[in-house]
Amino acid sequence: MPNPLHDALFAPHRDNDRPFLLQADGAEILNHRQFVDLSARFAAALASEGLAPGDRLVMQVEKSPEALALYAACVRVGVVFLPLNTAYTPSEVSYFLSDSEARLMVADAEKVAGLSEVAGNAPVMTIEDLTDLARGLAPAPVVSREEGDLAALLYTSGTTGRSKGAMLSHANLLSNARTLTEHWRFTSDDVLIHALPIFHTHGLFVATNICLLAGAAMVFLPKFDADDVFAALPRATAMMGVPTFYTRLLNDDRLTREACTGMRLFVSGSAPLLAETHAAFEARTGHAILERYGMTETNMNTSNPYDGARKPGTVGPPLPDVELRVTDPETGAILPVGETGMIEVRGPNVFQGYWQMPEKTAEELRSDGFFITGDLGFVGDDGYVRIVGRAKDLIISGGFNVYPKEVEDVLDQAPGVLESAVVGVPHPDFGEAVLGVIVARPGARLDEAAVRTHADAHLARFKQPKALILLDELPRNTMGKVQKNVLRERFADTFADS
Ligand code: AMP
Repeated sequence: MPNPLHDALFAPHRDNDRPFLLQADGAEILNHRQFVDLSARFAAALASEGLAPGDRLVMQVEKSPEALALYAACVRVGVVFLPLNTAYTPSEVSYFLSDSEARLMVADAEKVAGLSEVAGNAPVMTIEDLTDLARGLAPAPVVSREEGDLAALLYTSGTTGRSKGAMLSHANLLSNARTLTEHWRFTSDDVLIHALPIFHTHGLFVATNICLLAGAAMVFLPKFDADDVFAALPRATAMMGVPTFYTRLLNDDRLTREACTGMRLFVSGSAPLLAETHAAFEARTGHAILERYGMTETNMNTSNPYDGARKPGTVGPPLPDVELRVTDPETGAILPVGETGMIEVRGPNVFQGYWQMPEKTAEELRSDGFFITGDLGFVGDDGYVRIVGRAKDLIISGGFNVYPKEVEDVLDQAPGVLESAVVGVPHPDFGEAVLGVIVARPGARLDEAAVRTHADAHLARFKQPKALILLDELPRNTMGKVQKNVLRERFADTFADS
């Protein structure tokens, strides 16, 4: 009986005694066979709780090998896996439970009481409960699944409006894992440093599915911790991270060419990697970070090449089985090479639609199969994709379109500036005004006039920030994304009296 993800990711490792999960010091936590065994027992516990194929299981627990095994258990018995950010409060979790009509919630022990109050009909259990339940049960049989059956429901981070559940099928996840394994040359000899959360596509699918498919090992860290990463580096071959991982490593003197001698690949994604970070990392370690682009709804869409030029500031060409086009955001007309517009993608990686939101699905998933990503960008003559920002971050000031990225690139080069974020805020005259939020380089004293002079030299007047605000750091979420909605709210009244 087929079960596409199980057959490709777990079944091949039933007798595989090679390491799967390691500690930072190299000690083995579980080998591949033990991981399959653990997940088969959890699967039996889920089945004994009455979970049937297609039911949704919500998991909100701190990262652990058992939490990852729960994902594998769901795949085995056809249950749809719905992991949640551990930062969500019980009242936020209650939305996901009711929206998904979850059949079971798995939580950390200290949260069970609070969550039980909001969980409605779904029982709230801990991983320990499942472990107890599984004791004495035979491994659950593998449930048959079709390629189009759902494997996971991942909610978008939803900075505006209600968070939407992206329905991901077996074929969506597997096709992308296959493509990336090949593209990035993963084999059973690889040891990946895994410091990402497992409630997000990056750590859960990109990193984990690839290592399972290749039979590779992962140094499975609870979170990013520079000491752990440096402890793991001598035995590792690859790392996947968000840009902040790389900037933090660069701030550490232990990052040297020698420290990275066993490494063959550093991958970055989930947020833009500054060209400057790319250059500094290469100068220090000899490694050109490989930047790729993807999202919850589509898995990965583009990647810089393994061989060939990894170009800073780009996310590389589309992956082999992904079609990408750039369209006019107003009319949907396909734009020529080099012009900035809406990025749309089509391929086996693209999700099945939003859970119980047919209208939202129809708005973003065209009838010809192209998904409107919400990201603005363009494809260069070299075939590499450049991302300019989210469409909803586009600023329209006095009728002119201002792309925040263009302004940020200029501000980032201004004297004393480490990084910047540009947002539009209400303005009585212009509708929206460009607001520049800047962070100083360590030890630098920022001279606002010098930043303005620099902006004046490089940007048309309508693109120049009407106000500059200095912050110690930019607000970021756990995936390293700058939270522009937070900035927009916080500085909404900047021009109220202008
Ligand atoms: P998420 O669904 O949380 O994975 O967020 C996906 C969004 O992150 C994309 O739509 C992009 O806006 C952004 N993103 C992901 N990777 C990159 C990248 N390499 N460069 C710029 N933005 C990225």
